[in-house]
Amino acid sequence: MEKTDLTTLSRQELETFVLSMGEKSFRAKQLWSWIYQKGVTSFDEMTNIAKSFRLDLDQKAQIGSLDLLTQTNSRSSETRKYLWQLKDGLQVESVFIPEQKRRTICISTQVGCAMGCRFCATGTMGFIRNLEPNEIVGQVLQVRRDIGQPTNLVIMGMGEPFMNYDNLLKALYIIKDGDGVAIGHRKITISTAGIVPRILQYTKERHPFLLAISLNATTDEVRNEIMPINHKYPIAELLSAAKAYTQALKKRLTFEYVLIHGVNNSYQDAHRLMKLVKGIPCKINLIAYNTTTDLLKRPSDDQVRKFAQWIEPMNVPITLRLSRGQDIDGACGQLVVKGLKGAKQ
Ligand code: SAH
Ligand code: SF4
Repeated sequence: MEKTDLTTLSRQELETFVLSMGEKSFRAKQLWSWIYQKGVTSFDEMTNIAKSFRLDLDQKAQIGSLDLLTQTNSRSSETRKYLWQLKDGLQVESVFIPEQKRRTICISTQVGCAMGCRFCATGTMGFIRNLEPNEIVGQVLQVRRDIGQPTNLVIMGMGEPFMNYDNLLKALYIIKDGDGVAIGHRKITISTAGIVPRILQYTKERHPFLLAISLNATTDEVRNEIMPINHKYPIAELLSAAKAYTQALKKRLTFEYVLIHGVNNSYQDAHRLMKLVKGIPCKINLIAYNTTTDLLKRPSDDQVRKFAQWIEPMNVPITLRLSRGQDIDGACGQLVVKGLKGAKQ
């Protein structure tokens, strides 16, 4: 009989599993806390659980983990990048980004990505497969073993999270649980390229995690060019979904805007951007393009600052994301598994 990986189970499912083994339901809470709060990987370490139950668990269950292939620590910052090997041999990456008091883990949701954004290295891999909930949670558990408790979690690694909607949400509810990993929902941000039906579903289901939308252009012409998903969900539809979200949930969202020199960073772009998001409670996160292809150019710091000044009149919080970890290809958009079989490179 194949062992059940307990990290694939929601809290409710873990309880059902424990009851099916003839144990009382409070054992589920103990198990949950060992796995997610203390982060143990073997039943042996669960000292407040009866030996007989531990032996039984050993027969029927396991606590899955990802194999660390390589870890790369940046020399210029404290950023660390982890490359994991999954059970089927495929690989994904996570990144740890400390900035002052904030300790952020950035995780992946898919192997590769189908969206094919022109500026993103992951996009060049094509879509390979969705990550399972335990592979999403596993990244957080394992990075935490290295760096201690994180303060923030961003779903901005490899893949489009809203193309793996169910697995993502199952994983995030496990991570949010206060008796476990306990990263609060206000400290968890999902970034999407703009899968409109999923944004609407997310809104309707009223999930609590923060939302960021990668806008990245101010005309459909340019957005079509750099983010092919725009052909399917053009800017007007995307912004109307964004607005619906902010109205229904009474929350701000973040628009990410990757500045690519000569493509989307003109004065006109700044003005169109202000007009487009007018009336949507938001923050703007400007990210200087991290070079992944010679076809696109990174703006200078000065050009980035200028763009930030141009959009200042909109009177919303503007942050410049200092992309860390460029020396280890761990910055936004630079995550790619090199030499992967079956991947377009
Ligand atoms: N698929 C999701 C989340 C992963 S990408 C999404 O696209 O939103 C996370 C962020 O990195 C997105 O805002 C994306 O626009 C940005 N990004 C991708 N490639 C980049 C690059 N080369 N330089 C800077 N930011 C990049
Ligand atoms: Fe996929 Fe996001 Fe990269 Fe676009 S930017 S290819 S959606 S991971």
